[in-house]
Amino acid sequence: MNDRRIHPRFRLDRPVVVLPVLPDGSPDVEHASKGATLDVARGGLQLDIEARAALREGASLAVGVEQAGGGVAYEGVVVRHIRQRNGHVAFGGVFAGDAHRLLETGSRLPAFSPDKLAYDLPGSNQVYDKWAQAGVLKPVLMDHVQVCPRCGGLPTFRMGCRRCGSGRLVEDQLIHHFACANVDLASKYEVDGMLKCPKCRTKKLVVGSDYEYLTTHRCLACRWSDYEPTRVGHCLRCSLRFAGHEAVERELVGYDAQRLDVLALLPPS
Ligand SMILES: [Zn+2]
Ligand SMILES: [Zn+2]
Ligand SMILES: [Zn+2]
Repeated sequence: MNDRRIHPRFRLDRPVVVLPVLPDGSPDVEHASKGATLDVARGGLQLDIEARAALREGASLAVGVEQAGGGVAYEGVVVRHIRQRNGHVAFGGVFAGDAHRLLETGSRLPAFSPDKLAYDLPGSNQVYDKWAQAGVLKPVLMDHVQVCPRCGGLPTFRMGCRRCGSGRLVEDQLIHHFACANVDLASKYEVDGMLKCPKCRTKKLVVGSDYEYLTTHRCLACRWSDYEPTRVGHCLRCSLRFAGHEAVERELVGYDAQRLDVLALLPPS
């Protein structure tokens, strides 16, 4: 009764569906109940539904209200008062509980977890799936990320050695003498302030017409030398080093919900 004085109530005639929440947080679709009338206030609502579910005080529910523009909008409710009458149940509840939390934006979007060093939803995937099957949540592709092929953790990437995966690469400048096909370190061509091929002894080489510069990447860890370094992943969680192309591409899926806008249901004050 006190509620009535604090928050004015407003009566609506709309089809309503009530889904009890199971202890694991998933919807109890088998015990979904229908109702038609709704008495709504800022902090909660009162409903009259078919007595299909054995409601008890403190139970968590998802209440769906058919919208004038189509679709069903949901809000989470915790049951406060129950009255049985002629196969119907009248109850009042406040906006709180498992379904209320589930419908909050932060509960439905995957985020990076610094503890797990991985992307994750706050709840269990099976529970989200069941709410999606019940039509309360809708899966939405949010992003793609590349993760560790062993543990699914967050990797870092660097250009590294194709042979051992080390990122300790230094560049060497080489000269390719076209006439004799010699390729060697540029420093070996430098004699008396000019360039002289160490193989065929030709002097005064001119860039472009006689030779070109090439760059190689030398690995300080295994001494391998290569024209093109490769992309190497390193998992921050399990420390695995792997070729960049072995990273696993994962979809980050979040969930959309049409949430009941209680304020929009209330008459303007
Ligand atoms: Zn030469
Ligand atoms: Zn190496
Ligand atoms: Zn890993």
